[in-house]
Amino acid sequence: MQQDAVPTRASAGGSLSRQDDRTGSARPVRDAGGQAGELRGGLSPQELERWAGRHETAAPEEILAWALERFSGRLALACSFQAEDVVLVDMLHRLGGLDQVTVFYLETGLHFPETHATRQRVARRYGVEPVAVTPALTLEEQAARYGDRLWARDPDLCCRLRKVEPLWRFLQGFSAWITGIRREQTPARAGARVVEADRRFGLVKVNPLVRWKRDEVWAYVQHHGVPYNPLHDRGYPSIGCAPCTRPVAPGQDPRAGRWGGFQKTECGLHA
Ligand code: SF4
Repeated sequence: MQQDAVPTRASAGGSLSRQDDRTGSARPVRDAGGQAGELRGGLSPQELERWAGRHETAAPEEILAWALERFSGRLALACSFQAEDVVLVDMLHRLGGLDQVTVFYLETGLHFPETHATRQRVARRYGVEPVAVTPALTLEEQAARYGDRLWARDPDLCCRLRKVEPLWRFLQGFSAWITGIRREQTPARAGARVVEADRRFGLVKVNPLVRWKRDEVWAYVQHHGVPYNPLHDRGYPSIGCAPCTRPVAPGQDPRAGRWGGFQKTECGLHA
């Protein structure tokens, strides 16, 4: 079985700055460098399909244990400090595998103060310092090039500059990434598999909570005392950048508070 080069935590972070060309161009992700379509991780599409089938009914902890064994040292966990992501940090901690995973977050420069406070609580609780993955352009440089408050005029471009392209560069150092997406969250996520090929970013994607319902996430949070963003208690079921996130009314679609006024439900990382 083909094995990829094993990046260390330091080299994974270092490769970000080496690959970051600081152009901040709005080119498509598939043209941002490297070969689009190739999949790192050493698994053929048939093997991935087999693992997806085997893990479809497995507990999230079992799926994480498999990912740790399969991709140890070449595995990243995307953490936006929403409840699902911190549940995964907690599970990895309980499995004793957190030090084999690079936990990272997309530092768009536009997070709520509560999100940063949650990051600090997670760091203290689990002894992990999430890597900040930053865009090529500062907010000031973005405003100078594309105009002020780009998110209010062209959120797709803003997400591409501040989230999708930085993520693409960062993930080049890994064979697989773990995400907290769940099928019930958006129509685009309804078909997500437990283990799947992520052709956009060129690696294996592991979604251990994909079958879980919202209530299962919160039952886990409460049972294990998992730290969570206090905005969840103030009507924010889904929390992203501050300019693009609003609270929702009880019973409203949980994603209704994201990108209000636009036909947009995804930032481009998962769809
Ligand atoms: S969520 Fe909003 S502010 Fe954040 S990157 Fe996307 S468009 Fe920009």
